Amino acid sequence: MDRILARLEDCYQLAEQHFSRPFPRPDITLDLRGQRAGVAYLNRNLLRFNGQMYRDNTEDFLLQTVPHEAAHLIAHLVYGPRIRPHGPEWRGVMSGLFRLPANRCHNYEVARRRATRYLYRCACPDHMPFTPQRHALVRKGRRYQCRRCGDLLHFTGQQMAQAV
Ligand SMILES: [Zn+2]
Ligand SMILES: [Zn+2]
Repeated sequence: MDRILARLEDCYQLAEQHFSRPFPRPDITLDLRGQRAGVAYLNRNLLRFNGQMYRDNTEDFLLQTVPHEAAHLIAHLVYGPRIRPHGPEWRGVMSGLFRLPANRCHNYEVARRRATRYLYRCACPDHMPFTPQRHALVRKGRRYQCRRCGDLLHFTGQQMAQAV
């Protein structure tokens, strides 16, 4: 977190020199999950970063992602709410001011977890994937009913790996 704050401070000082005005520093969290590296909340002056991606790609994250999101907040404060998120104003801050490529998307490989699912069925045409926990409960005698057709769901003997 210290390194993110230091990197942000560099960006904000550059912006303050360039635009000759102060910018309020944003609140930062590292609680973002999923496919995105960061999200800028313009009206709350908040940046949420993906802590897992930060740990896995620390140097590139500091180089690219932190300025990318900071540029959203700065462009919003300078040019107002009508600009497009990755439009010319944002790109100007990224490339003109931060001297960085104005890429829309992060390039990190997101490690997708694959989880085992046990396939159950009833009278309906589709299989119903059960988690291992649920499958274990069935093994212990628990019964589940389909909410649509009312049949008991029974194990087909098949498993699959599902991206989660
Ligand atoms: Zn963006
Ligand atoms: Zn059914």
